[in-house]
Amino acid sequence: MQELTDQQLLRYSRQIMLPNIDVEGQERICAARVLIIGLGGLGCPVALYLAAAGVGELVLVDDDQVELSNLQRQVLHTEARVGETKVASAAQALREINSQVRIHTRAERLTAEALQAEVAKAQVVVDCSDNFTTRFALNAACMAAGTPLVSGAAIRMEGQVSVFLAKAGEPCYQCLYKIGDDEQLSCSESGVLAPVVGLIGSVQATETLKILAGQGASLAGHLLLLDANTMDWRKLKLRRDPACPVCSTHHIQPDNE
Ligand SMILES: [Zn+2]
Repeated sequence: MQELTDQQLLRYSRQIMLPNIDVEGQERICAARVLIIGLGGLGCPVALYLAAAGVGELVLVDDDQVELSNLQRQVLHTEARVGETKVASAAQALREINSQVRIHTRAERLTAEALQAEVAKAQVVVDCSDNFTTRFALNAACMAAGTPLVSGAAIRMEGQVSVFLAKAGEPCYQCLYKIGDDEQLSCSESGVLAPVVGLIGSVQATETLKILAGQGASLAGHLLLLDANTMDWRKLKLRRDPACPVCSTHHIQPDNE
């Protein structure tokens, strides 16, 4: 792993002074590659904090263009960039924050093979997508590759986050939701309060940095639920579904350290 330069030691000093991060944790963060699927309400704060915190390489995937109605909550995009692809708009904003981060953009919906290849190259995958087809495909790819998955969702005044480490005996996303569950909900139909996606995205970014630094107890095995109406956070324990078609069939490594 590459040693931090004096400039990096200064830039990330407020993070390095945390005993749980230290120089070693920051070196791991700076050497990491993270795949972010979706650059909307969740993906924007996730990418923003990961770039600011010094993640070495970010791969941004989204096939959408910026629209006026996105600007209420998708905080990397600007009025001037309406009509551009979300990945190009996000990449420009992130480069202005931290020119040291290497940013790769893919303005497309990845095929199964391309998704599997990207997942295998990443240390952590962050699911910021808005549809169940993508979430299930991403979960299966992460379980097959043994890549940790940080999953988030937000709608109206509610949100949820979980971490799936892709280790034997641990639950996966599909232990929680079944294909065919009635999940046609989307922000375009149901609405969402702007900072609620920021709250959930910030939790996703925090969990990602903890995994990269190898410190702290992650949310793995738990589902964190937010009701912003009452500002009530609840943490539920998740159980593996022994009949889950994904984590029962994939050859999950006993240890992915
Ligand atoms: Zn499962």
